[in-house]
Amino acid sequence: MKTIVVWLRQDLRLIDNPAMAAATQEGEVVIPVYIHCPQEYAAWPPGAAGRWWLHHSLLSLDQSLKKIGSRLVVRHGPSLEHLIDVVNKSGAQAVYFNRLYEPALAARDLRLKQALAEVGVPCYSSNGALLFTPETLMTQDGKPYKVFTPYWKKCQQLHFDKQPLSAPRHLGTVPAAVSGINIEQLNLLPRVRWYEGLQHSWPVSELDVLQRLDEFCEASLAGYKSRRDRPDLDGTSRLSPYLHFGQISPRQIVWRLHQITDASLADVETFTKELLWREFAHHVLHYFPHTTDAPLDPRFEGFPPVGGTVELLEAWQQGRTGFPLVDAGMRQLWTSGWMHNRVRMVVASFLTKNSLISWKEGARWFWETLVDADLANNSFNWQWCAGCGADAAPYFRIFNPVTQSRKFDPQGGYIKRWLPELTALPQEYIHEPWRAPLDAQRHCGVIIGRDYPKPILDLSETRQRALGLYQQHIKKALS
Ligand code: FAD
Repeated sequence: MKTIVVWLRQDLRLIDNPAMAAATQEGEVVIPVYIHCPQEYAAWPPGAAGRWWLHHSLLSLDQSLKKIGSRLVVRHGPSLEHLIDVVNKSGAQAVYFNRLYEPALAARDLRLKQALAEVGVPCYSSNGALLFTPETLMTQDGKPYKVFTPYWKKCQQLHFDKQPLSAPRHLGTVPAAVSGINIEQLNLLPRVRWYEGLQHSWPVSELDVLQRLDEFCEASLAGYKSRRDRPDLDGTSRLSPYLHFGQISPRQIVWRLHQITDASLADVETFTKELLWREFAHHVLHYFPHTTDAPLDPRFEGFPPVGGTVELLEAWQQGRTGFPLVDAGMRQLWTSGWMHNRVRMVVASFLTKNSLISWKEGARWFWETLVDADLANNSFNWQWCAGCGADAAPYFRIFNPVTQSRKFDPQGGYIKRWLPELTALPQEYIHEPWRAPLDAQRHCGVIIGRDYPKPILDLSETRQRALGLYQQHIKKALS
């Protein structure tokens, strides 16, 4: 009887799981294994919010496996050691997995594949995370893309609405000799119980994400193009954490989009383009693995030359800057583990440009607090916002949080939701509370400086300072 190990990582699903589908074709018994080894992630082990999600997604996957007579074998420690142990105890003939793109994990997988081959265990890897593997798409000169538009154009020439694979109906019984530990023993849940907000915000199973995709397609896809930038509306899919943990594949999403006959082409295209930004971020990380910790554009090495203060960084992290859109975003992040994309761009610009704090500090905070923390997307987008990455927003484009707030949260619904202390403030001051005359503040019972902070910095002064430093730095880098 042929037995195969399927090593699950960021592909915690049964439907459209290429490694699992290939294993079920080859073997009568398929052993699903999850191994947690934070050391193997090098500098980027899963952050606190990500670990919370991982805990629940593993529980849910184990339940789904039990429904088809299998179980998830959970281990803690070096991956190679545990895979060899599972192979030895089960007599498995091969190991199958879906590829990862985080540089440390991709390098580990390569080493592990060689080591397993040396002991006579072949390893087969598939692509379960992306529509296009990074090698599929290269420029005409055979180089990796650094600009999105030509990348997107190339993708459009390719066929990417392929039917997802079905979930396996049975995997056979995992031999009793193959032991594992309880998911609780991985100690993934943060010790400080700050995660109640996450619990209220997110159902975590594979079934939940299919339902979420249906809801999005039925209720929010129409109008996505115009509503996606509005944090006060439920206008985006919120599929990002499920995509990161592989509870849904991009292929399933694209396939579902193509089943909809009455959606506007513009909405479908805009949404597909967002999925392709994710692919592009993975492409960039694959070819420029140093971008997790250093800018893609070397001219920005060592920028900003002077760092902002710890007080500024803490005020930003805690949502106490005195700029409502920035603070609402940071509180949404802390409470729910997610932040609207438009607001992510605003808070990142505020940190890197107005506050002159390195994008790396911001990326690290997001890494700890986002349930969708993803090394490719996070590094790429922080560098995009800081102006030092691929196809980045130019450094001189500095978002004004007040203008952004007026434009994208016109009634202040988003601000009031996450900053309830400002609810009583008259509408006209919601974007700039410090402009409310003292009489108006007293009248509504919201005193700026007591109930909500005064602005921590001057927007126009800090903008000029950032632009000046930027020009000096670029001149120096080019000389
Ligand atoms: P939708 O608008 O519904 O988009 C659908 C999917 O497309 C998303 O789930 C996501 O997978 C992808 N997508 C959308 N926008 C982007 C983008 N700009 N870059 C890459 N993929 C995108 N996204 C993460 O998944 N993980 C991160 O760690 C992350 N860090 C970010 C940091 C900063 C500073 C910024 C500005 C953006 C970051 N993003 C990150 C990208 C984006 O904000 C989120 O993917 C998006 O807000 C998720 O919400 P959604 O699923 O409702 O998106």
